[in-house]
Parts: sequence; structure tokens; C-alpha cells
Amino acid sequence: MSRMVSRGPLREGEAVVFVDRKEREYLKRLEKGKKFSIRGGRILLEEVVGREEGTLVQSSLNESFLVFRPTLAQLVPNLPRIAQVIYPKDLGPILIWGDIFPGATVIEAGVGPGALTICLLRAVGPEGRLISYEIREDFAQMARDNIGSYYGSAAHWTLKIEDITQHLEERDVDRILLDLPEPWQVTDKAWEALRPGGVLLSYLPTVIQVKSLVDSLREHRGFARIETMESLMRFWHLKGLSVRPEHRMVAHTGFITVARRLAEK
Ligand code: SAH
Repeated sequence: MSRMVSRGPLREGEAVVFVDRKEREYLKRLEKGKKFSIRGGRILLEEVVGREEGTLVQSSLNESFLVFRPTLAQLVPNLPRIAQVIYPKDLGPILIWGDIFPGATVIEAGVGPGALTICLLRAVGPEGRLISYEIREDFAQMARDNIGSYYGSAAHWTLKIEDITQHLEERDVDRILLDLPEPWQVTDKAWEALRPGGVLLSYLPTVIQVKSLVDSLREHRGFARIETMESLMRFWHLKGLSVRPEHRMVAHTGFITVARRLAEK
């Protein structure tokens, strides 16, 4: 089962989101023999399997829920996690500024709960390759579980439980994405691993870290077109005449820094 080919009536084993009256979302998998407890009631598997997306199902308390396969924007905030995920507002820009294309060979570190991993697997497609480095065994296990449950089988994915600052043996790589606290420790190794013209992208929560990274990229002399950006996304409330931005927004997540690998340094 791969999310890429999921269409038609809902099948056993698939991930779905139930949406309640107040637009709250509940991510579940349609596992056989499992009852879905939801807002105090229960939904039976047989109630859901065979339905089209966008239909209503009732819980044992007669509460109605819309059921859909999750989009990536619905999946990511609901992923089971023991570490922070990258949010959808940043995943979109990361895919474009990281220039992730079908067939690309991509390296990422670290993996955490695997939100970016799922996006990258989808973007490189079955002709591509994703090699993910994660230093912690428990996070790697969580990522394996999440990819298995919410992406499906991924023959084009390799997960390495290693410290990327110590081991980065791949060569001729198209893109490297770093979501870890000290990416400047990887500058040299990333240059060795990337092909000329390859893209290095880093995601960092503080500007002090961004400064350390950009300094290290400039000192290295093997990178050009170094750019840093952030993305702000403001949702809107539209109800009757109340047409205005939402009162709350996610004000800060992380800064994206990109650089191109030069042929020589
Ligand atoms: N990008 C992920 C979240 C990553 S959280 C997502 O979107 O879901 C950061 C992860 O980096 C943590 O799991 C941490 O264990 C891992 N990490 C930190 N330093 C690392 C290193 N040197 N090598 C590999 N992984 C590392």
C-alpha cells in the first residue's frame, strides 16, 4: 500500500482522518479487529471500509464524522511523535527551495517522527532514492512505524542509524537536507557527498544557528547562492460577514537556508 495510489473506496489498512462538527481531526488506521474510540463513542471498521472519501460515518453515540484519506497537511500535525515535526507551512517551501524532483537522490538528517521523510519519499518517487540518517534508535523506530503506517512500503528508502557528522559516505548526491542543531558540523562532508550544483538545505530554529551555518558555508568556499528565508502563513476566518484573519497564528518555527555546491573549492 502506498499513499501515492490511494483512491477509490477506503480499504482496510489505510490511514484516514475523521473530522468532527468543529473541524477537529482524528487520525486513525483502518486496522482489522480494531475499534476506533472517538470522542467517547466507537466507530466500527465495517462502517468505514468500502466508503468513498468525503462521506459521513456515525459513532455509537450517533455523532457524525466526515472521513477522508489525509492530505499531507492533515497528516503531519497529527503524526504520532516524540520529537518536533516540520510543519506543513515549511514543508512546502523546503520541497521547492530544496528542489526535490522525481528520480532525485536525496539525503536527510535527522529523521525524528518522519514528517519530512514522508514528503521526500513522495517527491522523489519510486525512481528516486532517499537515505535518512538518524542518531537515535528510538526516533528511528518511531519513523519506521510512521512511514509504514502512513506512507506504506517504501523500497526507495534507506534508514541509517548513524551520526551524520561522523558518517556520510554517499557520493554524487543531488540534495542534502539537514534538520539537526549543528549543521555546520556537516559542511565539509556535505560538500564531499553532493554533486556539483547539488543543493544543501538546512532548517534551524534560531538565527544564531543560522549565522554559524552561513559563516561556515562562506569560509568553506565550496558553496554559492547562500540564502536564508522564513515563511509566515496566516489562515483566514470566513463566516458570514466575519471575513478576517484568524486571531492566532504560528508565528515562528524555523529558518530555511539553502546553498548550491560549487564544482571546486
Ligand atoms: N525532520 C523531522 C524532525 C527531525 S527532529 C520531521 O519533519 O519529522 C531532529 C532529529 O535529528 C532528532 O530525531 C535527532 O535525534 C536527530 N539528530 C540530531 N543530531 C543528529 C546527527 N548528528 N545525525 C543524525 N541525526 C541527528
